[in-house]
Amino acid sequence: MEVRTRFAPSPTGYLHIGGLRTALYAWLFARKNGGKFILRIEDTDRNRLVDEACEIIYRTLKDTGLTYDEGPDVGGDFGPYIQSQRQEIYRKYAEELVEKGAAYYCFCTKERLDGLREEAQKKGEVAKYDKHCLHLSKEEVQRRLAAGEEYVIRQNIGTEGETEYEDLVYGKITVPMSDLEDNILLKSDGWPTYNLANVIDDHLMGITHVIRGIEYLSSTPKYNLLYDALGWERPTYIHLPPVMKDKQHKLSKRNGDASYEDFIAKGYLKEAILNYIALLGWNPGGEREIYSLEELAEVFTLEGISKSSSIFDVEKLTWMNGEY
Ligand code: GLU
Ligand code: ZN
Repeated sequence: MEVRTRFAPSPTGYLHIGGLRTALYAWLFARKNGGKFILRIEDTDRNRLVDEACEIIYRTLKDTGLTYDEGPDVGGDFGPYIQSQRQEIYRKYAEELVEKGAAYYCFCTKERLDGLREEAQKKGEVAKYDKHCLHLSKEEVQRRLAAGEEYVIRQNIGTEGETEYEDLVYGKITVPMSDLEDNILLKSDGWPTYNLANVIDDHLMGITHVIRGIEYLSSTPKYNLLYDALGWERPTYIHLPPVMKDKQHKLSKRNGDASYEDFIAKGYLKEAILNYIALLGWNPGGEREIYSLEELAEVFTLEGISKSSSIFDVEKLTWMNGEY
């Protein structure tokens, strides 16, 4: 089977060294295995878009040589996938999930949801949607849709038992169903949430290995339930430990922490930056520390990825830079 990986950034800020590392690992793994690397811009959260973010992503991938192999524009060979241009696809699958009973229409008003939140707060609990609309009859749903009532589509997550999967870095992840919530898949304005669009696209784009940040480790069980409901094979997951600014703080897109382009502007070589981030959380084995991008693509393995977070160390980067 052909290995297919992707980099799926949300254009919500700068591309920091941690984000670039995610792209690099996905690219290296695809190259190592003679597979394909895909770029997908996840821009369905319209409130969080940052104007220049896409340009930065394109520029950085081009400059670093992390080229993507496929897209809708140029004979299937180039040009990234852009989620905001694929809205109808997500709606279609949201409706299919409803037909299969894995999702349902929800007409709850903001007032009702605020009420649930307040009640939970009073009890010192975390607010959770109470599945109210799961129990509406088909006729009632049809009537309310026909009347043009506002709705969202929610994932219908079972309440019993647990769900599990095997992450290649972190091992077996088990989550009780009761920890999960009936999250929104399609919003009232017709835009899909990440929960839906990400799963649909990973499947349609034939992604075999999902390589992404650890912040998705515990929500992945929800996505797996969508794969199962649609009768699709789940991908292999590789969650990456965070890159930290210091012991307490992760690098942040918003603050422009450790931005690739800033280092280039300061005179660092791209080869040194790529080499540095490749080894930030991945151990090639042995003593050697200086590699070119091509050499990295020859030796890269998922097994060498570390579970623990790394701190971005500018002195180490500066040392590497001196070696080129
Ligand atoms: N759009 C998500 C982000 O930028 C990507 C997560 C993923 O790779 O699945 O965090
Ligand atoms: Zn509802």
